[in-house]
Amino acid sequence: MKNRKLLDKYRHSFARALLFTVILVTLTEFGIFAFLTAKGICQWSVNDNYFRMKVMLPVTLNWLILIITLPAVRSKKFSGTTKSRIITLGAMSVSFVVTIIHREYTVMMCSFIFPLILCANFNDKKLFNITGVYAFAIISVTSFLKVAQSEADTTTILNVVLIFGIYVVSCLTGYLSIKFAQKGFDLIRTQAQDNEQLQHVLTIDQMTGLYNHKSFYSELDKSIADFDNHNIGFCLAIIDIDNFKKVNDTFGHDRGDKVLETLAEVIKNNCAEDDIPCRYGGEEFAVIFNHKNVSRAQHFAKRILKAFSSVRYDFTDEKITFSCGIAPYKKNLQRQEFFDMADSGLYVAKETGKNRIITVLETNTKDASQM
Ligand code: GH3
Ligand code: MG
Ligand code: MG
Repeated sequence: MKNRKLLDKYRHSFARALLFTVILVTLTEFGIFAFLTAKGICQWSVNDNYFRMKVMLPVTLNWLILIITLPAVRSKKFSGTTKSRIITLGAMSVSFVVTIIHREYTVMMCSFIFPLILCANFNDKKLFNITGVYAFAIISVTSFLKVAQSEADTTTILNVVLIFGIYVVSCLTGYLSIKFAQKGFDLIRTQAQDNEQLQHVLTIDQMTGLYNHKSFYSELDKSIADFDNHNIGFCLAIIDIDNFKKVNDTFGHDRGDKVLETLAEVIKNNCAEDDIPCRYGGEEFAVIFNHKNVSRAQHFAKRILKAFSSVRYDFTDEKITFSCGIAPYKKNLQRQEFFDMADSGLYVAKETGKNRIITVLETNTKDASQM
């Protein structure tokens, strides 16, 4: 996504460069005409042959190319690749017009350099091939006209050979730069994947796939910042499996692990997309109920408890339940105070018989209420 945006930006810069080139070519054409007029070679008149054929004709054609190219680059109808090709063909056409009309060696050489640089930057091999052939056609036609015009004099032939030599070197350089750029892209892609994996290992609990202890706190900080900056309310739930030691002792640690994985799955499936389900540690879980008031958070917590306690295991007929404490975030609460508030709800839930959800509205635990 980021890559596409970057390329889009890049394309717009090149479209602007094409506009700038056409403006520059126009000014140069008029400048040279003014210079030739001052020297007495041309006449300061719209009927002057040089003015019509070598100023007005290329200028008009180039602006026509621009009028077709620029809106196409901005259009939403075309894909990114098509847009890159349109700009390159636009640049090639401007080169073609200038080269064929002026037939100057320096212009001939420049005609393919700008479009070839464009292709190498777009890292588009197919476009590079098309441009190569197009450039070859431009310099072949101009060379032919040039040689015919000069009646094949030696200097002209040598210059033409030189231009073809530069053309071959430019193509080879462009080809190699695309090849290396592609290798670079592959490397960047692999590194990005490695980074993503590393990020995953650092933030996600490997056993349950939930956010781990460390990322729980960073997510909690984010929600607190959202509250402070935008007054977006949220709640925190702390969950602890009931009598889990007994599960481990009776059925073994592996089955205990299975229960933990089951609870993680149940939490994931029963909370909203903007909620943050975490494994706080051991058999304690936490859920940050983002963008939710107490009653919405209670609704989700209740749903999780109902789903978890209805799970049937193949190693026991007994229900496995959890206890939970919920607290809504209040202005100016420190992170730890807020955590302790929800944790005190969990404490009350355990003390009053387990398998229940206790909401704490104030930092004082006396205000705890059972759902
Ligand atoms: P209570 O209802 O009061 O919570 O009682 P409890 O038996 O669940 O007690 P407690 O919450 O203190 O139990 C924690 C147990 O969780 C102890 C530990 O062996 C077990 N435990 C912690 N992490 C893991 C784990 O990754 N896998 C397994 N199988 N057990 C774990
Ligand atoms: Mg515990
Ligand atoms: Mg427990």
